[in-house]
Amino acid sequence: MRRQVPVHLQDLQLRFYRTNGPVLPSQPLLLPGMSAAGVLRSRRVLQQLLPGLLASMSRRYSLDVAAPLLRTQGYVDGSWISAASVFPVLDPATGQELARVSDCGPAEAKQAVEAAHRAFQTWKGTAAKERSVLLRRWFDLMMLHQEDLAKIITFECGKPLQEARGEVAYSASFLDWFSEEARRIYGDIVPSSFKDRKLLLLKQPVGVASIITPWNFPSAMISRKVGAALAAGCTVVVKPAEDTPLSALALAELAEQAGIPPGVVNVVPCSRDRAPSVGQVLCSDPMVAKVSFTGSTATGKVLLKMAADSVKRVSMELGGNAPFIVFDSADVDLAVGGAMVSKFRNSGQTCVCSNRFLVQSRVYDRFLDKLGRAMDSQLHLGHGSEPGTTQGPLINSRAAEKVVHQISDAVSHGARVLRGGARLNGSFMEPTLLADVTTDMLCTQEETFGPLVPVLRLFLLAGRQSDLAGGRGPGGGHGGGQRGSHVGPRGPVWWSQTVGFGSRGF
Ligand code: NAP
Repeated sequence: MRRQVPVHLQDLQLRFYRTNGPVLPSQPLLLPGMSAAGVLRSRRVLQQLLPGLLASMSRRYSLDVAAPLLRTQGYVDGSWISAASVFPVLDPATGQELARVSDCGPAEAKQAVEAAHRAFQTWKGTAAKERSVLLRRWFDLMMLHQEDLAKIITFECGKPLQEARGEVAYSASFLDWFSEEARRIYGDIVPSSFKDRKLLLLKQPVGVASIITPWNFPSAMISRKVGAALAAGCTVVVKPAEDTPLSALALAELAEQAGIPPGVVNVVPCSRDRAPSVGQVLCSDPMVAKVSFTGSTATGKVLLKMAADSVKRVSMELGGNAPFIVFDSADVDLAVGGAMVSKFRNSGQTCVCSNRFLVQSRVYDRFLDKLGRAMDSQLHLGHGSEPGTTQGPLINSRAAEKVVHQISDAVSHGARVLRGGARLNGSFMEPTLLADVTTDMLCTQEETFGPLVPVLRLFLLAGRQSDLAGGRGPGGGHGGGQRGSHVGPRGPVWWSQTVGFGSRGF
């Protein structure tokens, strides 16, 4: 049986009320630093960008997926549970409601922690092979339902369907990987400093892991943590983001179908209002042994404080402020290709998206010119389920407001808008290119999480090496590591330094 949730883009501007109240239809902004020619250019770009968006508006969209995958209750101890209230899940492209999901609170979170703690007593004793087989079955089911899972991601998170399919494959790959790793949790024999002693290291599961995840990879951020936990013999309670609980609940449905025992995987969806009280249980309950979080640095700090009292093990994957550096010696076409890839995936909403572009003087104008043209020809806004769409909406109006704020701050400090600059209807943002950006502007200091390319002129020999340093805020991603990319004579070089753990793991 399949279930269809119809969604209409004509109501695009109507309902972005959840976080900020109603939003009126946006007009293209005339920003302080924008000339009349700039406005005309922006209009031309809009016409190129908008056909997809305008065509989308007259179409009807429906989330058509196998009914069992569209779960709307919490999943605790192998049962689907309702809470006293519900919260709406919206399609960010249309503002229309996709579903109403149980708004779990501290009581349900506690219930989930207790269930996970009970299940841990037997799960930790299962044979490695058994855990491996169950994870592999879960992987197989994910791939079997790849298309439906991708549609759920597109409708609740806005990313183009092609990217969503990629996320499902990426997400499932963690289950595949950890199904194999489950069989290889070897110990060690360590030489002792004493003749009469032998040191044997045994790896033991720590217990219940609380998993708190963001909306921008609503499937992959869950499986990469849960896969590792289950392989090790831990049990989990997952709190997905308010914007994207449906992907998490679909994963729970498939975990059940795969035969993962009750209580081993629990999911407690909740609204943003309830996140702090649910987070309090998940980060401080004595039955929780480990907290694994991916999200913003600000939230990470809050969770760390909550986890500190009971000295829990904690893994934090936080926000980024990745630089993209182009030297005079670079191949500018390669640099532009790299910039397009590293900036515009998921409309600029990934933690590894380049956030500030530092371009050396001699290639500065050429880079801007070519990048602007690439943006004109390659970026197409629309509903994520339209085949031609490369840029979906931002996740909600709060996210769009942040980008608009950064643009107007930059323009008020002297930046020039070369492309875009406007907020469109709902939470759609024009891909925006800013020139003459300096390090005192907000867009270079904080993570944007949107389709904004702020380009700084890099003077390496004129005592301005500080341009290479971070903004005022710490980069912070991957537990304090740095990420980024630069383009030299041999093309783009991606670099990443992580602290404490690899990119796979939890
Ligand atoms: P966020 O606002 O920090 O939210 C992340 C998760 O934390 C959501 O589930 C959120 O719930 C929850 N949360 C917020 N406050 C909480 C509290 N007091 N107690 C318990 N849970 C709480 O981040 P986001 O906006 O969803 O995601 C974007 C950020 O994630 C960016 O900074 C990005 O760089 C980062 N990110 C990093 C990586 C990485 O690998 N390093 C990967 C992806 C994303 P609600 O949704 O209900 O608020």
